[in-house]
Amino acid sequence: WTEGTIADAENSLAELAALAETAGSQVLEGLIQRRTRPDPATYIGRGKVDDLGAVVLSTGADTVICDGELSPSQLRNLEQRTKVKVVDRTALILDIFAQHAKSKEGKAQVELAQLQYLLPRLRGWGETLSRQTGGSGRGGGAGGGVGVRGPGETKLETDRRRIRHRISRLRREIKNMRTVRVTKRARRTRNSVPAVAIAGYTNAGKSSLLNRLTDAGVLVENALFATLDPTTRKATASDGRVYTLSDTVGFVRHLPHQIVEAFRSTLEEVAEADLVVHVVDGTHPDPEEQVRAVHEVLAEVSADRLPELLVVNKTDAADEDTLLRLKRLWPDAIFVSAYSGRGMDELRAAIEDRLPQPAVEVRAVVP
Ligand code: GDP
Repeated sequence: WTEGTIADAENSLAELAALAETAGSQVLEGLIQRRTRPDPATYIGRGKVDDLGAVVLSTGADTVICDGELSPSQLRNLEQRTKVKVVDRTALILDIFAQHAKSKEGKAQVELAQLQYLLPRLRGWGETLSRQTGGSGRGGGAGGGVGVRGPGETKLETDRRRIRHRISRLRREIKNMRTVRVTKRARRTRNSVPAVAIAGYTNAGKSSLLNRLTDAGVLVENALFATLDPTTRKATASDGRVYTLSDTVGFVRHLPHQIVEAFRSTLEEVAEADLVVHVVDGTHPDPEEQVRAVHEVLAEVSADRLPELLVVNKTDAADEDTLLRLKRLWPDAIFVSAYSGRGMDELRAAIEDRLPQPAVEVRAVVP
């Protein structure tokens, strides 16, 4: 469910399909319904539920993914009516985060977010999932499919109290890990190394640009969320000044609030930067919407007042009319291609230009 036009809904659905594929699903069919508001009982209208049931039967689908956040009862009702697993956008995004978390802190943050999502849905999920998966245990992986990885089936059999207990433990652990990171950051600040954060919508090309700028060899995947844990690299300006470049969490529309909450400490890292390089995908059908979504998240962690350098990437593949339109819209943006290297010198110069100037060192010369 989205407030916008049918075209917005189609864009959002295409993104949802890409997300589902990132999570390892094969997408069979999309269904859009125009409504003024979601049905309180079944999310989509009652008649549409029958259509959905028919599509499930004819395609042999084993999962329905809804583009929105379903209430626990909507989820339960839809599962009962369609007889297959129902997953919402939030669960899907949490699932992808779970697959991609690498660092200890990242893993703890995702588990916290998943448990917070799970807690109010405990009964509904318990009934359906344990029946369908036969309680195949934690980390369902290939057999389980979307939405069941992470703190899933076996934990469902434990009571709420234990989950709450785990949540508070995770909170404590994350807090401690955060202290370590803050100490490291304080050291960097003391050494007055300027920090540049690369932010942007997921798949905009942040990792690719980081590679180009630093020869870092960061993993680049044509998958949403390849980057989850921030990667920091050292870069040297043409005048020899050293600065750090960090890749940040990829942003998507309707980033679940549990994720924003759990990743707050990682996202707050952005707020400590001296400059935000905001990468925009020039080939996306609605780059302005992506920019808005990123700005929303940045505002949530008070990183919206930092100097920002807008960078339109993938100019090698973008169409000329779009590029012209974006140039008019954002006259100060830098247009680059991480693939061909076009605009990279200009980008480096623009970054260096905006770095804080080092304090002038004064030395007394004693004769
Ligand atoms: P991130 O999620 O923002 O870190 O994005 P990645 O750097 O992982 O890139 C996402 C996808 O876009 C990958 O398939 C890249 O190969 C592709 N990509 C990145 N930069 C460019 C570019 O300049 N041109 C084109 N055509 N594709 C690019």
